[in-house]
Amino acid sequence: MSDRLDIADLFEELGYEYRQDNLYHQTIRSVLDAAERIGLPRSLRLILAQPKNELMVHFPVKLDSGEHRLVKGYRVQHNNVLGPYKGGIRYHAATSLDHVKALAALMTMKCAVARLPLGGAKGGVKIDPHAMSCEELRGLTRRFTSALGTNIGPAYDIPAPDVGTNAQTMAWMADTFINLRDPHDRVGARGVVTGKPLEFGGSHGREQATGQGLVYVLEELLPELGLDMMNVTFSLIGYGNVGSWAGRLLTRRGAALRAVMDHEGAIVYDSAKSSGEGLDADALAEHVKQTGSVVGFPGGEPISEEDFYRHQVDLLIPAALEQMIHVENVDLLDCKVVVEGANAPVTPLADERLAERGITVLPAILVNVGGVTVSYLEWKQNRQCETWVPEHVDREMKRLLVSAAQRVKHTSDTLGCDLRTAAYCSALEHIGEVYALRGIFP
Ligand code: NAD
Repeated sequence: MSDRLDIADLFEELGYEYRQDNLYHQTIRSVLDAAERIGLPRSLRLILAQPKNELMVHFPVKLDSGEHRLVKGYRVQHNNVLGPYKGGIRYHAATSLDHVKALAALMTMKCAVARLPLGGAKGGVKIDPHAMSCEELRGLTRRFTSALGTNIGPAYDIPAPDVGTNAQTMAWMADTFINLRDPHDRVGARGVVTGKPLEFGGSHGREQATGQGLVYVLEELLPELGLDMMNVTFSLIGYGNVGSWAGRLLTRRGAALRAVMDHEGAIVYDSAKSSGEGLDADALAEHVKQTGSVVGFPGGEPISEEDFYRHQVDLLIPAALEQMIHVENVDLLDCKVVVEGANAPVTPLADERLAERGITVLPAILVNVGGVTVSYLEWKQNRQCETWVPEHVDREMKRLLVSAAQRVKHTSDTLGCDLRTAAYCSALEHIGEVYALRGIFP
């Protein structure tokens, strides 16, 4: 059979119909489009179009009221040809299997783009963490970890934080995993998760890693687009881990933060309320830490969601949830570049529209790869029972990210394609080479 394969045919062979609004289908479509471009063998396209393992667990959690609630959790392991599965755990009320599958596939692509010896996975629990107490979250995390059992492990599948989880969640996961293990087999066991607190096997630089990685990628790619980081203006969707670190680190390089939107509302720079050319990113991070949102920040002015999107900036950085830039708001955008801090923040139809309008998109699998890169460095430190100094972590991270950005740029120039396609092609070329060397078992 020909290696040219229509995506609809392939989906049919896998037993489902392509749906344009389904994030998993959209993600696999991007993978398959790139696979077509580089002529990846048909067998590999089929393998990559489905995760290797999809685990769904249901477990009871005791609430503070004494009642029990039944909770649904997922772990999807997409591919491990490059190394152990790796990917975050999300706590969010809208978590679904297809969503987790999409994010797991993206992790495979990210690890391959950065040439990390890791595969792709993702997990999630369908709850609203903001509606639960610390005690309830601890119980839930312990129960979820024990339900995952040996489906995770430091040499097999290594979770990390994502939306709704943090270093504390990872400390609870590692502690539970260690306690469930044979007492004679606990050395290195805390490497079962990354993104841990520094005092308990975490790495310097992990907290700000994704924002820092975004800055390193921009340093490589902005000059190609005729932009100078010292003079750019930017806006952010989301001011959580990724958004707030991107905001703080970019403003330290001289860029001006002009507007921010989160789940509660949006604010904009007002010269009468700020001493600089933009919002004070550090003060804003402190305000969000105290209040939970950017709304009410005394150093800015409130604006509507529509005005936020219309606000003119050089860079718009979506750093919140998936699919936030879609056909209904894409034409409002007034920017030169969309920098994907979040995973899959732009729908395929909006992506086409951005291309028509000449707006460049810097793709998530490259832009936010700093997070998993420092997770990889944390995992390495855990395996060696070492703690590296911050400068060493930063040097290693920068080396890996600069190489990844240069490879994607080179692929884009060689194939004459946009950077998103180039990032997928670069990832797939590496995966294809490794499959060719290893062969498909048996
Ligand atoms: P987070 O939970 O720390 O922050 C999420 C932010 O999104 C918050 O500011 C929240 O207010 C905002 N938000 C939520 N719903 C919104 C809405 N409807 N409108 C506007 N804003 C909304 O999460 P995070 O860790 O910063 O992750 C953000 C994105 O980056 C996710 O796509 C995640 O998968 C991705 N990512 C995170 C990391 C990491 O290391 N944390 C690494 C790679 C990718």
